[in-house]
Order: sequence, then structure tokens, then C-alpha cells
Amino acid sequence: MSKVSSPLASSSSSTPAQLITANLGFPRMGRQRELKFALEAFWSGKATEEDLLTVARTLRQQHWQLQHNAGIDIVPCNDFSLYDQVLDTLVLVGATPERFGSGPVTLARYFAMARNSGEQTAMEMTKWFDTNYHYLVPEWSAGLAFAPDTSKLLAELREARALGFEPRPVLIGPLTLLLLGKGVDDFDPFTLLPKLTAAYVKVLEALAAEGVISVQIDEPLLVTRITSETAAAYRNVYAELVKIPVNLMLATYFGALGENLPLAIELNTAGLHIDLVRAPEQLTHVLADLQPGQTLSLGVVEGRNIWLTDFAETQKLIDQATFCLGPRRVLIAPSCSLLHVPHDLRSETKLPARLKSWLRFAEEKLAEIVALAHHDPAAALANASTLADRKAADSSTNPFVRSQLNALEPKHFARQSSFPARVKIQSRELNLPPLPTTTIGSFPQTAEVRQQRAAHKHGHSTDAQYDAFLRDAITDCIREQERIGLDVLVHGEFERNDMVEYFADFLEGFAFTENGWVQSYGSRCVKPPVIFGDVSRPEPMTLKWTSFARSLTARPMKGMLTGPITMLQWSFVRNDIPRQLTAWQIALALREEVADLERSGIRIIQVDEPALREGLPLHPADRPAYLDWAVNAFKLATSSVADGTQIHTHMCYCEFDDILPSIAALDADVISMETARSRMELLHAFRTFGYPNQIGPGVYDIHSPRVPSVSEMGELLTLALQVLKPEQLWVNPDCGLKTRRWTETVAALENMCAATQTLRQTLI
Ligand code: GLN
Ligand code: ZN
Repeated sequence: MSKVSSPLASSSSSTPAQLITANLGFPRMGRQRELKFALEAFWSGKATEEDLLTVARTLRQQHWQLQHNAGIDIVPCNDFSLYDQVLDTLVLVGATPERFGSGPVTLARYFAMARNSGEQTAMEMTKWFDTNYHYLVPEWSAGLAFAPDTSKLLAELREARALGFEPRPVLIGPLTLLLLGKGVDDFDPFTLLPKLTAAYVKVLEALAAEGVISVQIDEPLLVTRITSETAAAYRNVYAELVKIPVNLMLATYFGALGENLPLAIELNTAGLHIDLVRAPEQLTHVLADLQPGQTLSLGVVEGRNIWLTDFAETQKLIDQATFCLGPRRVLIAPSCSLLHVPHDLRSETKLPARLKSWLRFAEEKLAEIVALAHHDPAAALANASTLADRKAADSSTNPFVRSQLNALEPKHFARQSSFPARVKIQSRELNLPPLPTTTIGSFPQTAEVRQQRAAHKHGHSTDAQYDAFLRDAITDCIREQERIGLDVLVHGEFERNDMVEYFADFLEGFAFTENGWVQSYGSRCVKPPVIFGDVSRPEPMTLKWTSFARSLTARPMKGMLTGPITMLQWSFVRNDIPRQLTAWQIALALREEVADLERSGIRIIQVDEPALREGLPLHPADRPAYLDWAVNAFKLATSSVADGTQIHTHMCYCEFDDILPSIAALDADVISMETARSRMELLHAFRTFGYPNQIGPGVYDIHSPRVPSVSEMGELLTLALQVLKPEQLWVNPDCGLKTRRWTETVAALENMCAATQTLRQTLI
């Protein structure tokens, strides 16, 4: 540990009272999403490789400069990526999937691994811990070469140095990398540890040879529950890494180290970074356990949300740490990389000024870090008054909503009767055939649909014109569904750009940024709404188009809503009240919508919760409490309806095994989900559990334009009937159809209905 003189010891620019500041990572898209546009121009052949690399280089330069200008002492490098930092790490250690070939990774091969373009399907993508950032999943197999390629890492280091910066390179740690991947054909990734360790040793040696003093090594895996095998692997790998003459800053974030704290300390790295936003209570334990000489990096400015920091509270943590360790062993940093927040607030011209004054995006967060580290009294004063203003704002608290929440009783969370009683009434009143067919909600969002919506949004078409367009689109969609022979129809969701934003637009308590983009994957960015105050519903949100659609057909029309947890997960949520309260406020708003739909004669209502699972806390110990309030949010939204009204839910994934009791507790009459790609495997879990209600396991994958044959879908349904009772089974695609074209949609749905018809004959 600390084999080379620490940059802290040699820093003479700061007075004793000032603490060293560090950043863990900066958003790489650029202020105006320059990287996105450069990537897309390159992929479409409109720009050259050189054009793309020039934009990338310029962005890196700007980002180092602005971090430096903000007063950040330790700026990161290698946090930049053309697509994904996990893929970059695989290139770095020489472990890119074998199926894409071997040898140096060209840009063409890099993008072939990242995105579906050529013959090979790209690598799988999944969410980075509990964020909405998607990384490419490492594919571990016996033949991986582990021939490190340090060219990107060293090039960016030299690039920064040439500009006069001395950056701290960022690496994803070996165990986080290993455990985030999957073994190909049941291959055991742990057998790769010796090679992986050797590769990291070479990479660190290359950095040491360049004269790098300090390296940030990210191991967010340490905030999750790990096995004893993983803990042993940590010890073995880091025993080798700490021998190399660079100071390792072991970065942990997204939660508390908890039971892994002794292990993290034992790894004996020169420094430890901890997340004090998600887990401020861990500071005391960390201070007690830290080894003499170890540096502590305090993650005190939230890297996952956009609210201003509470300086007074944070100061207490900083004082506690400096009191124990002295100022030279303490660094001030964001809780995690700033990748997960938008770039800067400057271009927000439409946000209400007061709300804007409460927000901090990446650039403004850097200023907070510096103000905290420098004990800037003026900044502390301004911070206190802004916080007081936020606390006092009328928009934060809606007394009516609060009284509604206070008045909630158990009866608000339960249907009148249990499922067995309801299902009898529903089957009598809804009069559906066996194996009812339906869809998940959206129908193709053609270029015309998107263009009409955009034209209306920007004032280029009148309300009357837009309404006429939507009426036609819905009418066509209903006629088509009738012709295909579907049993439960939908209106098609043509008026919705996004399943959260559409609803958020109607609700009080939500605001929208103009430029608050956050990278989701590759060049894809999302602009999450901001929940700043109590949520309420001034007017119906879906009634107009759902009732119109219902008026066009004699068949049952399904109302389509987005559930409270999905609204919460895909927004920036206020941090001044518990998430649970906001979820329940959204649930109350949805409950009103459900009541309106029911009153207008809609007897089937689907409440989508695709994000229920992703809200699951990283540490298993925190999961029961989350699942409890999340399930109750769904029940609050849906349980007011009469027994004869059928509640559906939809989830577009299939990893349910560990949360099945909670899925059952939602007590939805029907759940539809993704199963086509796993050939109904998931249903066994439902059977083992004894899932009592009805299920629509998706019979075809909507992510592909391929039209499955009648017999293919018939086979899947037959498989489903081996585990489900016929009266439990619904027939539907895996998810909404908005990304598909009409021709393939119609063909696939026709085949789906034909397969159902054939199977129905066998049931009689
Ligand atoms: N009802 C939505 C749709 O069909 C559901 C989307 C989703 O599950 N992500 O588009
Ligand atoms: Zn879905």
C-alpha cells in the first residue's frame, strides 16, 4: 500500500483547510449529445471514422477542461467510451467474446459486438446494477486469449497529459467485470481468474510504467451480497494487484459495503471510495476499520439524482472523517460516476426558475464538490437558503394528497373478493372464449404517427387536425384487430410517445427538462421526467381515446395504464420524501383513472409494470421492504374496481423466480409477460409456486421482425398447457408492437389467432 508518494502529499496548492476533490466519471455524450450524433452519422455512413474520433477527442478535451476549471483536483480518464465501458474493459484485458474473432479489435469489430448490424447478433445488454444504463454482458469461455490491449487506455492518458492534465485512469475492477458476465454454455467463469488477474497486472504495470500514481478501480459488486467463493477471489486477485507500484482507489458505490466492509479493507488498497449518499451511516464503521495510511474518498454528492446537496448535513460527515483521518487522507467526490445525470443546467430555459434553482446536473455537481471541499462559506449560505426555499415551496406539498394518503386503510389495498370468486363473475360478464387472445397495448408507431405527434407538439397542427388523425388511426387499428379475430382489443397507444412521459404530462408534481439527457446505452439517451412535488391528477389521462375506441366495437376494449413503480423508476424522483410516498401518490392518481375508465364502461384495465423488478434493491436484505410497498402501490392503483372488472398487468422480462410471491401478491386477474425466447421455461416456476391467477405467456418475440409460423406458436401454447390449466391461459405477444411494422404485425397476429383456434378445437 502507498508504495509511491501520494498525490495528496505533494499537493501544495491547497491550504490545509481545503480538501482534495476528485471526480469518478463524467457524462460522455456532450452538452448537446454530440457523441450520439457523431456515432449515428458514422454508423449510417454519413461520417468517417476520423470524423467520429475527432468529435470524441474534442469531447474528452472539453470535459477535462471543464472539470479542471470547476476546481476538481483529480479528473478521471478512460471514463470515456464510444459505446460502453464494460466492452472497453473486455478489449483492455483481451477478453472480447470469441464468436467475434480474435486479434486487435478494430472499430468495425467493436461496433459489431455492440450493436446488431452484421450477421452476428450483438452481445447481450443488461442494466448496470440498479441504474438505467445498459452494459454489454461479457461472455466467458475457455478459449479467451486475455492478451491485454492498453492502446485506448494509454492513448487517453497521453491525450490528457498533452493538454496539461494529470488524470486518474478509471478501470472496472476484475471481480465486478467477471461477475457481471455470463459463462457460455455453462462455463464456470471462476476458472478464468488466473488469466484475468494476469491481464489486470499487465494493465496496471503499463500504467505504472507511464508514471501513473493513482488508479480508480471500480468494484460496485462489493455493495451486493457476494459468495465466499467471490470473497476468496477478491483476496487472491487484489493480493497481486496491490504489489504493483500504483495507488489503487477501490471505488464502491450504489450502496453500503455492509458485511463486505472487512473484505474491502483487507484488500489493502491505497484508498477506498464509499457512497455516503445512499449509505451515510456506513461512515462510522468505515472510519473505525480503515487501515492507517489508507485514504478515504467520500462520495457525498449524489451521482444518481439531480437535486442539490444538503451542505449542512454533508459537512457533518466531512468533519467526522477529517477529524479521524486528518485532511490529507480525505477526498471529496460524487457518490458514483456522474454518467447517470445530465450534463448541465444552462440550456434549461423552460423549467420554472424556482425548480431549476433546486437542481444540479453534472457540471453543477462539480461546483458543489469543490464548494464542500473548500468550505466555501458563501456557497454554504446560498445552499441553506435554497434548501429552505425548496422545503417551503407550496408545490412540494399538496394537503389534499397528503390527507388522502393519511386516510388509507387496508381496504384500499384489496379487491372486494378473492380471485376464485372474481373469476366466476368475470367469465360470466366478459363472456370470453377459452384461451382469449389479446395484445400488450401499442400497435406500430409508423413514421406518420410519430410525425403527426411531433407536428402537434410543436404547434404545426391544430388540436382538431391531430384529433382527426388519432381517430382515424384508432379506427383503422380496431378494424384490423376485429378482422384478425382478436378477442380483447386495445386502442393502439398512437397518442403516446413514451409510456411514462405521456402520463407524467397530465400529472401535477412532474416537470420536464429540455436537455436533461442521460445515456441509456450506446448512442441512446433518455430524458427522465422530474418528480419535484406531490403527485395528483387534475384530469383524466386516457379516458378520451379509450372510450372513443370502445365506442367503435362490440368486443371488450382494454384500458392501458403505466403502473406507479414504472413511473417512479423511469423518472428523477424527489429525495425529500421517501420513494414509497411518491409511488403511492402516483398510485392514487392511477386509482382515479381506473375509476373513470370503469365508470365509462371499460371492464378490462391493464396496468403495466415493466420496471417492478428493476426497482429491486441491490442488497437482498433491503428487498422485502421494497417489494411490500411496491406491491401495495399496484394494489392501491387497481383494487377499487368491481369484482367483474378484470385487472391485467404486463412485465416484459422473465426473471421472476425470486419474486414470484410478490407477483402473486399483486393479485392481478391476468399477467402477461415475456416467455417466447425462453420457450415457456418460466412457466415451470409459476407451476411450482402454484400461481393461481390467469397468465398470458408471450407466444412470440416482438423484438424481431420475423413472423413465427402457426405451428411454432401452437407448439409454445401446447407447452404452456402442460403446466397451466386451460382456463388460466391467455394468448398474446411478448410485449407491445410499437417498434414493428404493420405487415409483420398483422401476419404474426393472424398466425397467433390461427394457432389459438386450432388449440381450442382440442379443448372441446
Ligand atoms: N403497453 C405498453 C406497450 O404495449 C407496454 C410497453 C412495455 O411493456 N414496455 O407498448
Ligand atoms: Zn413489455
